[in-house]
Amino acid sequence: MQDQSIDDLLNTGLFVDGQWIRSSSGETRDCINPADGSVVATVDEASPEDAARAVAAARTAFDEGTWPRTPVAERTALVARIADLLERDKETLARIETLDTGKTLEESRIDIDDVVSVFRYYAQLAAVEADNLVDVGRPEVISRVVREPIGVCVLIAPWNYPLLQISWKVAPALAAGCTMVLKPSEVTPLSTIAFTALIAEAGVPAGVVNLVQGSGAVLGAALTGTPDVDFISFTGGLATGRVILETAAKNVTKVAVELGGKNPHIVFADADGDDSVDQVLTGVFLHSGQVCSAGTRLIIEESIADRFVAALAARAEKIRMGNGLDPASRTGPLVSEAHREKVERYVALGLSEGARLVTGGARPSDPALADGSYYLPTIFDHCDRTMRLVQEETFGPILTVERFTTEEEALRLGNDTEYGLAAGVRTADSARGERMVRGLRHGTVWLNDFGYYTAAAEWGGFKMSGNGRELGPTGLAEYQETKHIWHNTSPTAAGWFDNG
Ligand code: NAD
Repeated sequence: MQDQSIDDLLNTGLFVDGQWIRSSSGETRDCINPADGSVVATVDEASPEDAARAVAAARTAFDEGTWPRTPVAERTALVARIADLLERDKETLARIETLDTGKTLEESRIDIDDVVSVFRYYAQLAAVEADNLVDVGRPEVISRVVREPIGVCVLIAPWNYPLLQISWKVAPALAAGCTMVLKPSEVTPLSTIAFTALIAEAGVPAGVVNLVQGSGAVLGAALTGTPDVDFISFTGGLATGRVILETAAKNVTKVAVELGGKNPHIVFADADGDDSVDQVLTGVFLHSGQVCSAGTRLIIEESIADRFVAALAARAEKIRMGNGLDPASRTGPLVSEAHREKVERYVALGLSEGARLVTGGARPSDPALADGSYYLPTIFDHCDRTMRLVQEETFGPILTVERFTTEEEALRLGNDTEYGLAAGVRTADSARGERMVRGLRHGTVWLNDFGYYTAAAEWGGFKMSGNGRELGPTGLAEYQETKHIWHNTSPTAAGWFDNG
């Protein structure tokens, strides 16, 4: 690693009970820059024993430590202090994210801004929370519902938005008074390691935040199959989510899962135009399609489809792809060689299913990109709902196009997925737009926009896109247990069996 300021932020060990420690197995893992195949850093690889130690440290910090019992004003002041430190180190963190994921530096900076806003949001939300007095009609009884921290949390994140996804979990968990173990993706652990150093610098007590990076398959049972954990918040793929739900069921551990999406972007003829082409293009090809809410399924009114798809293809072919540190790049490589191969298998599948390739479908020919895991923006026209390419999440720069002629058909197609994460609708008819957004069974629906979210509004999926919600007030409630306290200030006998 060449950048001294990054070296300063990056301790490559594990963080357990307030100490940076080495992996007990002595194993390490190279973090690869997908833009050129170079090694960015070599980090310790946690063993299951390390994971168990981290859970035990979080358990002790919860059961015996000060954090869950710290006044909310002090806790939220510390959450706000973490936001300040993130702002201070924004540029370094953004560079780390770009080196590890391949995304453009501009996107990484936006990610860090969003991380800061999540910490600020939960600092203020938790500060204004109050107990809920319940009137039971008896003046001698004080009945109230209090919110208490849920306990020890295991927070597991994916590789596409490493710091952003973990911050949606850490900020409310800290504000609520929980203790936790962070498990970033083994593909992109670096920003979470740097972030953990900032949390320690902010003064979070030992054992409250612990970090183990390593293979999810190896660490999974130690993190998710133990009664010492009270809540698991997982963001990642559907198959992994199922494994975690099954493992956690043994202990009836509460689990929230944020899974994949196969998100429709529905365009009516009355919304034809360059803006719609631009929004569909950005919605699917931003971050080379590695976005859970990417609009990968264009559902378009037949009368404008040919021209619209031709305009989209012309724009897609002009997308400037390159190293995320080069300001000229508008999108970077796929996160790894293994992921590029998965995307290539989906392209081959689409061709075998009869989808018509309009553009892309190959690695770029530019020799300057030969060392990175780049893949061209790809559009398949004349797709239909029976194709696996249309139904499965490719998590790459692949857009499928389906056509409709009536509003009912558009709605049916938009809901014709086992997922339900996000959807977009473009129409000039606001009454129709309202009918569509109410009819779509997805956790977020954009009308005449695409891709936006805010820390103050819930995020999550219907159907197989998951359960539970992050962000917004519900995103804090996930980390709290509610307890009803009934206090009779004038105790008497119950009197039920007086006659028996
Ligand atoms: P993944 O499921 O392969 O891995 C996610 C995390 O789970 C990683 O940290 C991994 O190490 C860990 N893991 C793997 N096996 C495990 C096990 N048995 N027990 C415990 N942890 C285990 O997902 P990915 O490839 O990193 O990320 C891409 C997926 O994430 C896509 O499906 C995408 O849609 C989804 N995603 C969803 C959202 C959302 O908000 N719904 C946001 C971002 C990404």
